[in-house]
Formats: sequence, structure tokens, C-alpha cells
Amino acid sequence: MAREEASIPAKLKAKNTIVEMDGDEMTRVIWAMVKSQLLEPFVDLKLERYDLHVLSRDRTDDAITVQAAEAIRKHAVGVKCATITPDAARVEEYKLKKAWPSPNATIRALLDGTVFRKPLIVHNVPPTIRSWVKPIVIGRHAYGDIYKSAEMRIPGPGRVDLVFTPADGGAPQSLVVHEFKGPGIVRGVHNLGSSIRSFARACINYALSERMDMWFSAKDTIAKIYHGTFREIFRQETEARRADFDKAGIQYTYMLIDDAVAKVVRSPGGFLWACMNYDGDVMSDMVASGFGSLGLMTSVLVSPDGLYEFEAAHGTVTRHFRKHERGEPTSTNSTATIFAWTGAIAKRGELDGTPEITEFAHTLEHAVIETIETGTMTKDLAAIANPLPAGHVSTQGFIEAIAERLRSKLEARPHMPAVAPR
Ligand code: NAP
Ligand code: MG
Repeated sequence: MAREEASIPAKLKAKNTIVEMDGDEMTRVIWAMVKSQLLEPFVDLKLERYDLHVLSRDRTDDAITVQAAEAIRKHAVGVKCATITPDAARVEEYKLKKAWPSPNATIRALLDGTVFRKPLIVHNVPPTIRSWVKPIVIGRHAYGDIYKSAEMRIPGPGRVDLVFTPADGGAPQSLVVHEFKGPGIVRGVHNLGSSIRSFARACINYALSERMDMWFSAKDTIAKIYHGTFREIFRQETEARRADFDKAGIQYTYMLIDDAVAKVVRSPGGFLWACMNYDGDVMSDMVASGFGSLGLMTSVLVSPDGLYEFEAAHGTVTRHFRKHERGEPTSTNSTATIFAWTGAIAKRGELDGTPEITEFAHTLEHAVIETIETGTMTKDLAAIANPLPAGHVSTQGFIEAIAERLRSKLEARPHMPAVAPR
């Protein structure tokens, strides 16, 4: 039934600001398409834009990245496009002043955040691991352990001690690490009580917000103090939020890491797996490949004080950008980038108490998933889908198909925004 003129609502209007961080290469191309074709026709977002293009970072001596992180601190919600982390070749390519650090690392450090990676489930793209029917989210602690260690080669016989010298002049404490009889190696690692607590709180906030069970795993039977401290802090923090866990109907479980690995591959999924730094590094790659494609992997940085930064887990897809620059057709999957936007929009709506904004975000998400599930997909998925589709669509063709489906979904909902003429 056609809508009555009078019943057509104005464009949806967001109440508060989302921090927008534009980026580089193919994802920058997709970014502009998503905004102009899937967002702007339907919703008035309040955006504070920071251009993190590598040349903009270079021009501002990377101050723009810090300003973006500060803006997230102020507005609580950000959405980030993939960015180039310059290496020597990029310094040459863009004639940069220097190899600026990874914007993700800068933002993560400033927000004291934990990264959560979540695969999207699409029914015609089967996971490699058959039992996985719900997403497995990896929450990776991003500070310390082997990533901030002191290593030494031991040339021959001798003793290595572990020594703590108190800053207040108290008596030093020491332990023998090993009496070497010949050559070997040694490493000292550390972590911080405050960082572990932040990590635990970020995981708890995520599990509560997504209503997912939460696992934490370590090897505290062996590393009684080191891993035992992680386990104890997780116990304290989950205990403190027990009422919230009960209210959300979710559970916290501690497992030994080897037990967890064995359980994960036989589980249906549907939980957050909080991992120590190294475990998270390894397990997030295992989970990503077990679920299918990088184009379906979303990522969100959550800080313990409730700040959210959404992005796709993949990079700027340079190889596709080179084709795009040469004027050749591309078939880059924009799903994870669209879900970065919908994640931010839904969160904005939730924080602002504007359910129609959150509903719009979820409607767009359904439009994306249905587009793929009805056989319209980019090349990365077309290669692994079951049934195999007749062909694949271009970068632009995929977004057009989603826009078409979004329009008809919105038309079916009279309280959703007016649909611009085709
Ligand atoms: P990448 O951009 O993730 O792409 C690697 C390959 O994965 C692509 O060549 C493509 O394979 C496939 N792929 C990734 N995303 C895809 C998508 N959306 N649709 C279809 N295929 C997709 O990694 P990279 O090439 O190693 O890195 C490129 C740049 O991104 C680097 O400068 C790096 O610093 C940066 N980076 C940024 C972030 C971030 O901002 N979060 C993360 C990682 C990397 P085929 O070529 O086989 O089609
Ligand atoms: Mg890794």
C-alpha cells in the first residue's frame, strides 16, 4: 500500500555525535559510497569528522589521530575506516615525513581499550568448523606479556636471577630463574594490575551489552602467580557484577586454556572468549579463518569506562585499490565496513534513548545479510558460498543491491524514514 503523504516521517535525526574517522585506499572509496547511498538518504547523523588519511596524518604530525581519540573520549562513540600503517615503502610512496605509528595502536593506548573481533554469520557462507552456528567473539588483552618483554641470549654457564628493587628503598627481593650449565635463552615478561582490571571490565561490559556468555582461559595451574593473578582479577570483577550477569541471563566460566581450545572447536559458538594477549593473537586468526572471510569480520574497541570505536577487522585492501586506480572493476566486500557504521549508529541510539535510530541500524544490517543470503555477493564470498552463486557483483553493485533492499524494508515500516524517489 502506498504511503499517505502526511504519514511519511521526516528523515530520522540522531540526537548526539558520532566521531567519524575516514581512512585510506579501497576502504576510503567504500566509506564514501556507504555514507552517500546507505546512510545520508535516510538518516541525519551528527558527525564530527577526522580525516585519518595518511597524508592528513603526515600534515598534522599525527596530531589528528590524537584529536580523534580525544573526540571519542568526549562523545563515547566513534567509527573508523581502515588506515595505512606506514612502513618504509609507504613512506616512499606518499613522501611522508616519517613512518607514523599505527592509528589503531595510538587510539587503543589513549582509550585504554580492549579489542573485540566478531564474525558475521551468513547462512550460505558455511564456517569451516561445522559446529559453529553462532559467532565466537575474541576479546584480546592488548597490553604486556611477550609483547613487552626483555629477552637475553645466555652464552654459557652462569646464573640468571629475577630481582625486584623497591622504589622506596626497601630490601630487594630476588629469585633464581635458572643455573645455566651451557648456552640458552631467557625472557622477562610483565603485566599491570590496572591493565588486567581494565581488560576484565571491558570484557564484562561487552558480554553484558551483547548478552553473551563469557569465558576466560589461562594456565594458572602452571603460572600460579602470573596467570593466577589474571584469574583472580577476573573472578573479583565478575563477582562484583554478578547481579548484572543474572539479569542478562549470562554466565562467566573460567577454563584452562587447553580445555578451552578443545571446547571451542566442538561448541556451537555464541560466547565471548576473553584471551590473554598471545592467546588472543593466535585464536583470533584461528576464529577468523574458521568462519570464512575477512570481509565478514567486525571489530570494536571498548574501553572500561564505556567508550566504543567500531571498525572492520580488515585493512585498506590495497590490491583492490590498485585495480580501482587503474580504472578496472573491483569486487570488494563492504559488509564489515557497513557493520562498523551500523554498530556505531545502534550504539548511539542506545545511549541516546532513540530506539528508531537503533532500529534503522539493524534494518540496514538485515538488508546486508539478506542481500548475501539471496545470492548477491562479492567475489570473496562467491568463491566459498554454498550453493555457489551464478557470479559475483562489483563493489558498487553490492552496495546498490543493499540500498534497493533497504528501501523496500523501510517502505514496509511506516514509522521509518521516507524513502527518496528511485
Ligand atoms: P587487507 O587490507 O586486510 O587485505 C588483505 C587481502 O585480504 C586483500 O588483498 C583481499 O584478498 C582480502 N580482503 C581483505 N578485506 C577484504 C574485503 N573487504 N573484501 C574482499 N577481500 C578482502 O590487508 P593488507 O593488504 O595486508 O594491508 C593493506 C593495508 O591495510 C596496509 O597498509 C596495512 O597497514 C593496513 N591495515 C590496516 C588495518 C586497520 O586500519 N585496522 C588493519 C590491517 C591492515 P585478495 O587480494 O585475494 O582479494
Ligand atoms: Mg595474529
